[in-house]
Amino acid sequence: MIRLNDITERVNSYLYLSDTDVEVLKKAYVYSAKVHAGQTRSSGEPYLSHPLEVCGILAEMKLDMSSIVTGLLHDTVEDTLATTEEIDTLFGSEIAFLVDGVTKISQLPYTTKIERQAEGFRKLILATAKDIRVVLIKLADRLHNMRTLEHLPEARRKSIAKETFDIYAPLAHRLGINWLANELEDLSFKFLNPEEYERLSASIEERKKEWSAHVDEIKKIINGKLEEFDINAEVTGRFKHVYGIYRKMETQNLEFESVYDVIAFRIITNSLRECYEALGAVHSAWKPVPGRFKDYIALPKGNGYQSLHTTVIGPFGERMEIQIRTRAMHEVAEYGVASHWKYKEGKLDSHGTYEIYSTLRQLLEWKDIKDPTEYMEAIKGELISDVVYVFTPQGDLMELPSGATPVDFAYAVHSEVGNTCTRANVNGKLVPLNHQLRTGDTVEIVTSADRHPNRDWLKFVVTSRAKTKIRSWLRNEERTQSEIVGKSICERKFKQHGLDFQSMLRSGELQSALSDLKFRDEKELYLAVGFGKISATDLLKRVLPTDRMHQGPEKESRIEKIIQTITGSSEGGVLISGYNDVMIRFANCCSPLPGEQITGYITRGKGITIHKNDCPRLLDVDDARRIDVEWDKNFKPQRPARIVVMCADRPGMLSNITSSFSSSDINISKAEIHSTDVDTAIGTFDVVVSDLEQLENVMKSIKQVDGVRSVERMLEWERA
Ligand code: MN
Repeated sequence: MIRLNDITERVNSYLYLSDTDVEVLKKAYVYSAKVHAGQTRSSGEPYLSHPLEVCGILAEMKLDMSSIVTGLLHDTVEDTLATTEEIDTLFGSEIAFLVDGVTKISQLPYTTKIERQAEGFRKLILATAKDIRVVLIKLADRLHNMRTLEHLPEARRKSIAKETFDIYAPLAHRLGINWLANELEDLSFKFLNPEEYERLSASIEERKKEWSAHVDEIKKIINGKLEEFDINAEVTGRFKHVYGIYRKMETQNLEFESVYDVIAFRIITNSLRECYEALGAVHSAWKPVPGRFKDYIALPKGNGYQSLHTTVIGPFGERMEIQIRTRAMHEVAEYGVASHWKYKEGKLDSHGTYEIYSTLRQLLEWKDIKDPTEYMEAIKGELISDVVYVFTPQGDLMELPSGATPVDFAYAVHSEVGNTCTRANVNGKLVPLNHQLRTGDTVEIVTSADRHPNRDWLKFVVTSRAKTKIRSWLRNEERTQSEIVGKSICERKFKQHGLDFQSMLRSGELQSALSDLKFRDEKELYLAVGFGKISATDLLKRVLPTDRMHQGPEKESRIEKIIQTITGSSEGGVLISGYNDVMIRFANCCSPLPGEQITGYITRGKGITIHKNDCPRLLDVDDARRIDVEWDKNFKPQRPARIVVMCADRPGMLSNITSSFSSSDINISKAEIHSTDVDTAIGTFDVVVSDLEQLENVMKSIKQVDGVRSVERMLEWERA
């Protein structure tokens, strides 16, 4: 087991540790030992060995002091009774923040379903981490867990190895920490495909034995060439990692025996100029393989990697890959993102954090992308802050644009879920449907078969999928409504002329008229009438003898008229888009009268509501749902109105007022009068009028009654 002293020494090799720093490390060590006391790992070792090893890996990664301390504490909040608050008090907010970040990543639900969504999950980790150091600590944690994976049961081994392979190794690679990425790949490979791993490792071992003499000889030749060119550089030769060789065999469909460039030679120079000179030296010694030269110095990889790569036919007729780079470039290749950090007396300098963020951004840009899908992914990566990652209750990961709501989520799951979505729970709590989702949220949608999309949803949904689906549902619903309205209009229009529309339809009497109008069936007719494309009269004209047409509609019976007068008919009297007979309703809020400027509002399922133009309720109405309407000059509906009269409280007042109504030929349906104080009374009169003029005239005549102080029309009231 690594000791604290080994760690301190390792850190001291790249970072000057003050006495205070050493004290903090000791304090973290003691604290971690205390809270993890009694816990053991699957290997049987005391639990403390794990945070210590993780800490050692972080020191190998050359991370800063806070990351090293976090290494010791990274499992305390997740696995012991320790709290983030306690860590904050003992070690300060920066370390508490890092521990909290690592804990959050550990708690992200990884299920096998996410395999397909690995890229999204990697971005989720980056988004959750907020600080790139959190990801680096998590990688060190994962590396140690992978190194000790054989102690876990088979099933756990496979699932952790798969997760490492899908998520963490690519993440390490993207962050440019190649040694870590390679080791994670090899360990995953070892547990996921043990036979293949063993077979290939054995072959590599054998080849290493055969080749060790050759490697030394080639190094000697390269060194001689470099001397000849007066270049001062270090030459190394090493075997590529197992999975790297395996991948090459898989992608190029080769047997191990046919993979020649399993050894990579590396030339580390002191200057950029010497890189190109060394390349010249190598090419002067051996013939380069055409098409294999890559200049990642002039065109660095997205993760910042810079190097010259060339493959030559070596002295034994073998292909050899040679990488040439400066020491600084080598640091980047080995330590990735961590190599960009600037240290100053053991601390990140003031621009440190900023640089880390900008580096992360740069890393996510991937400039060396050829395949269009990858390019799209890269664009998404670049816009990482514009995306949220949320989970279904089953642990499926969903990527949504930032600002997405539960309705967007519901439509992303399935359009039927969207269409019937009623309520949403986010992390177990009920939220409004326009609630903005955040990365890491678990979203549950409650559906109900009798719920439908609402036009208001269009105001807050952000995904085009949700918008399209809602619009298409509304359009469909509009058709259904129009069909109902159209059918009713046809039936009523025919009835006015003493005809039964439905029985004429059944008997085939309407067939030729329908074909003349180019309708295949009655449904098309209903839609056309409902949308106002033709009027029911157009159809009627074709089936009714001309003489009867000119007679006009049959007169309403006296009884019908009386009933209308009494109830204050809620239908008719309004012309809509020039056609008669659309089902209408007058709004209670403004209670319009003929003679007033009006606007129609197409409601869902309740036909058209007529409002006064200046009714405040219309302000909230979608423009598309307003339609132009006007009063039918030939048919005045009887409309209810309420008048409030303030007058002197004296005998005979009521009869004086009611006589004004009767002389204006207005029926009173209800009248009430009560006293307020010694000499004032308030009278409320519910009347039925045929237009505004009639109402205004009667109000004028009431005002002239002796003792009347004011006469007002009341707009909104409870109707019996
Ligand atoms: Mn751990």
